[in-house]
Amino acid sequence: MSASSDEQVCPLCNGTSWKPVEATNGDGRVTRCDCWRESVTRRLIADARIPLRYRHCTLNDFATYDNETLEEAQRRAQKLAEAFPVVERGLFFLGDPGVGKTHLAVAVLKQVVLTRGARGLFYDTRDLLKMIRGTYNAVVKATELEVLRPIMEADLLVLDDLGAEKTSEWVEETLNLIVNTRYNERRVTIFTSNYPDVPPDSTADVVSLHDRIGFRMRSRLHEMCDFLDLEGADYRMLLPNEGPAALKRNWAERRMRGKLDTAGRGHRQAKAQLRGGDGKADLKWPGGRAGSK
Ligand code: ADP
Repeated sequence: MSASSDEQVCPLCNGTSWKPVEATNGDGRVTRCDCWRESVTRRLIADARIPLRYRHCTLNDFATYDNETLEEAQRRAQKLAEAFPVVERGLFFLGDPGVGKTHLAVAVLKQVVLTRGARGLFYDTRDLLKMIRGTYNAVVKATELEVLRPIMEADLLVLDDLGAEKTSEWVEETLNLIVNTRYNERRVTIFTSNYPDVPPDSTADVVSLHDRIGFRMRSRLHEMCDFLDLEGADYRMLLPNEGPAALKRNWAERRMRGKLDTAGRGHRQAKAQLRGGDGKADLKWPGGRAGSK
């Protein structure tokens, strides 16, 4: 409807949602009023469930401060938004908290809703699982398809913070169902995660996406998305009057901390290997480790 009781009636269409236009032969015709288009867009944006604190996010206000990983992520996000809905693969933004992963994902979501009239949907992964669990029917041991349908059928779904949820067989099955259905229907999904995408056979001493979501899900995600690593400052640490210089400083400090952490991990790993890795001293006698069978 073009006007609610507390809004002013649109002067172009007088609240009918249709405005008069004159055809070339002088006949009077009507067409959809601008206020109708605006109200449809407003509804689509509201239906997308974008959290209030991300509603301001756009691709243009994403700061990149000479940071190549952010420039590349912004470029890929823009490309997806402009090509939508003719898009083969989604995006997966990885990186430390505060680098802007959710900002970029929301910016794309907003742009395709506003420019393409797409049905977009944002969910924090933990909230999504909580919602699904809350509607689980213990009698029939199932969740109503109606609950899952909007998630399966959204033209663009953003699943934020993948891997933050506590894992269980049910969580894995539920996420696999959502991801696989969207993949089979060729629907685009954008994911974000704070966990690094370290392959399962890696010896790196870090908790990775593979540890959090399992082998099956990780390989499916690689089929359906391009993975982009974002490195940079923690934007949440920025004070209101600070600009790119502060971001660069924060980013450099973060990198330095990362190097120290890695060095520390290497040191701890070496110590763990000396100790046999399980805290028991390896006495190096032919029968094996002390206490082992
Ligand atoms: P992440 O998802 O990587 O943890 P967010 O996207 O939640 O980070 O960013 C936290 C806040 O900082 C948000 O309000 C976001 O708009 C802002 N922000 C983060 N990075 C940028 C950036 N590069 N340019 C502009 N705003 C940013």
